[in-house]
Amino acid sequence: MLSLEQARDRVLAVVGPLPAEGVDLREAAGRFMAEPARSPVDLPPADNSAMDGYAVRAEDLAGARADSPVALRLIGAAPAGSILDKAVERGTCARVFTGSALPRGADAVVMQEDVKQNDRDPPGVLFAEPAAPWENIRLRGEDVKAGGLLLEAGQKLTAPRLSLLAAAGISSVRAARWPTVGLLATGNELREPGRPLEAGAIYESNRIGLAALARQAGATTRIYPLVADELTATKSALEKALGECDAVLSTGGVSVGEMDWVKAAFAAIGGAMDFWTVDMRPGKPFMFGRWRDKLFFGLPGNPVSALVSFLLLARPALQQLQGAREVLPRTIPATLSEPLANPGARRHFMRVALDERGGARSAGNQSSNILSAMARSGGLVDIPPKTTLAAGTVVAVLPWD
Ligand code: AMP
Ligand code: MG
Repeated sequence: MLSLEQARDRVLAVVGPLPAEGVDLREAAGRFMAEPARSPVDLPPADNSAMDGYAVRAEDLAGARADSPVALRLIGAAPAGSILDKAVERGTCARVFTGSALPRGADAVVMQEDVKQNDRDPPGVLFAEPAAPWENIRLRGEDVKAGGLLLEAGQKLTAPRLSLLAAAGISSVRAARWPTVGLLATGNELREPGRPLEAGAIYESNRIGLAALARQAGATTRIYPLVADELTATKSALEKALGECDAVLSTGGVSVGEMDWVKAAFAAIGGAMDFWTVDMRPGKPFMFGRWRDKLFFGLPGNPVSALVSFLLLARPALQQLQGAREVLPRTIPATLSEPLANPGARRHFMRVALDERGGARSAGNQSSNILSAMARSGGLVDIPPKTTLAAGTVVAVLPWD
């Protein structure tokens, strides 16, 4: 049986990025850069004022004191977006605003709160303190130089990164298209929520949770009708979904029972199974395979197992399909507020509830059929076999979102 890490490596070894397409920056949030981006311009493009105030030559104010202020003649104003047609020469200053291009000749800006306007003719401005050269000036290219690297291939387009690209004048990027993920649930006992429930039946709950996780991971999802425990029905459902999607996730029917048709159906439609079963709890019955250039994940039926195995094995593949450089989710540190025990012989991804103070505790009953404890949990903690972690231990939580 493969370890989780071996299984994940086997999956990632065969997943390449989907073809890249041009994407308008306004639609690009959450996508991954297919190629690096360099800045076409200096950022900022010109020296400019960091304040509302007066552009001066610092040497003119060398002798300015509160009891003997220096008066400079005002030659004009440069509102943001316009260029003053005159230079600031000895004995003069110009009105500027935050973001105004620095007028020629000036080498410092004095904030308006620090000056006094005099009412002499011609109008002048009184300065009671010296100014340091380049004070209150943002220098051309101080943020990014023209040609400088803005983003690397595989980086996710977060809000700050989108702002950076836009500031450099970039209006579109190349990014892998969103993957389409098909969701199937197998089981004669399953019924759609919202309908009456007859004896022996249960409501189907995996497709909805998996669709949410897949969408959080950047996929477009398609929910397919329930699949009966029967070879022909399973074959045709798998074939249809695989034909229409980049990756298909099914749940249930992947154990060793005689009603478990998923592996047989996948083989019968020409799918190539890569592996089956992973040494972890929950999520041991899990299969991965390929059909043509499509990915197939046969997840366990138990609702907790289905979502946990998605997070650990399918999500990284979806990230890699999108060209992500970091495909594994970031964990968040939390401190156990009570001991957390895995008495079992298999590594257990236990569901933990998180509090606002960075604490974590067991979310309750850890059986793979218990949805209420899973619903209380904020994420998973990886506990080795026969291990008890003491209260106060700092653990790495794999968050649901
Ligand atoms: P299976 O892997 O098909 O043997 O299913 C394992 C357990 O999970 C059984 O108790 C099923 O009834 C339950 N189960 C399977 N699929 C689903 C589903 N889609 N929603 C809720 N429970 C399910
Ligand atoms: Mg079943």
